[in-house]
Amino acid sequence: MHPEGYRASLFLKLPLLSVLLFACEAPPEALPDGELLAVGTQQQRLYGNPASYWLTSPEGLTDVPVCWLTAGMDTEKGWVRETVESQWDMWSSVRFTGWGPCNASTPPFAIRIQVDESTPRAYVGRTNLNPSMWLNFNFNSWSTACSDWWDNFPGDDREYCIRGVALHEFGHALGFFHEQDSPGNQPGTSGYCDNTVTHQNGTMITVYDSYSTMNYCAEWGRPTLSALDLEGLRIAYGVPPFEFSSLGTRPWSACTQLSESADPYTWNDNYLCSASPQGLRWSAVGPIAGQRCTQLLETSDPHTWDDNYLCVPPESPVQFTWSSVGPIAGQRCTQLLEASDPHSWDNNYLCFSQRLVFSPWGRVAGYFCNQIKEASDPHSWNDNWLCSQVDEGIRFSSTGPIANMKCTLVNEPSDPHTWNDNYVCVPNTSNLNFQWSAVGPVQGKTCVQWNEPSDPDAWNDNYLCY
Ligand SMILES: [Zn+2]
Repeated sequence: MHPEGYRASLFLKLPLLSVLLFACEAPPEALPDGELLAVGTQQQRLYGNPASYWLTSPEGLTDVPVCWLTAGMDTEKGWVRETVESQWDMWSSVRFTGWGPCNASTPPFAIRIQVDESTPRAYVGRTNLNPSMWLNFNFNSWSTACSDWWDNFPGDDREYCIRGVALHEFGHALGFFHEQDSPGNQPGTSGYCDNTVTHQNGTMITVYDSYSTMNYCAEWGRPTLSALDLEGLRIAYGVPPFEFSSLGTRPWSACTQLSESADPYTWNDNYLCSASPQGLRWSAVGPIAGQRCTQLLETSDPHTWDDNYLCVPPESPVQFTWSSVGPIAGQRCTQLLEASDPHSWDNNYLCFSQRLVFSPWGRVAGYFCNQIKEASDPHSWNDNWLCSQVDEGIRFSSTGPIANMKCTLVNEPSDPHTWNDNYVCVPNTSNLNFQWSAVGPVQGKTCVQWNEPSDPDAWNDNYLCY
């Protein structure tokens, strides 16, 4: 009704979200207003400290254990979990695990959450401190606009605040600073936020984002990530190369449904999701002609699991190996668990290997990646990566070949956005001898599909072959 006055008064009423910026060398310093700031630390859009990120496994998952130091309040805890899992977790390799009470079985490095009436805050990045995060569920003294009788926020005020604050604090726990502290936040520019603290470990992950959940000047308490939050998250933590999901698709990926209509144990919402759309196909009626197929066999399951195959095009770099007796040592494997199925699905793994992969949705977690960026192309060329399982020494140039490297032009002649000077290069000593094709895979070679689905300029038949 009075949006301007309403927003201004709300800002005055609400103490800011705060954070303990964790620096090994100095304790946090408490300011008179209760804000807690780092001493002696610095960081990029999303703005973070890469040295503090949680660790990613070779198969591309970033396990972040979470536990509660405070008993009870299961409904509120459920809001926290649902919010951060549907945002930070859903869009990246981050997997929040545990969520029970903190005890002797909690891993040393974990997010240990205390619920009390203090100002919500969290240490930045991976930590073994106890507690490492403080959340407020009642708002009796802090941010009372979340609990007073005015209707200040969308829906139930207390639920809205609990969700939005948790999203922000979990951002800190993942290694992200306040966005207004980004060097891109300059007086006089659009979205300037007059709330800056200088850091020393800071790295700009994206351009300055006035809408970030990590920005004090963004819409307060909004329980969703901004577009640049999502982009930065996937630069920082990437997306898994392959991941089985028994609960539907994931938004960052190409998901292939693995269904068996003869099996009554909820096989209708199971997917294999991939960081790259690379032509995966599924068949529940035998191998597909002309494709390279891997049988997914569970002999203990009576529901016709003897004719199911996962297939890739013959030129694909992807090699799948199936195991129904646990993961294969030394390989990257994703567990294929349909927990509702009683027929011995708890030890089934799909193992994968691919020398190279091109991802249009973020860095591939657990791989060595080079960003493929053509700044002149407006069609979503800001989150594309060429990744390899081992470090191949690959470099990309959008300004001509690189001296003293073996370089291959990667061009789409139909695209007007200066692709004619873009090169993928490898060291002269590399045994990778690339051949680029803008008209489909090259017969007899291994070919990586190089596709940006958001680009309308004929990128759907481009391949980097070797
Ligand atoms: Zn904060």
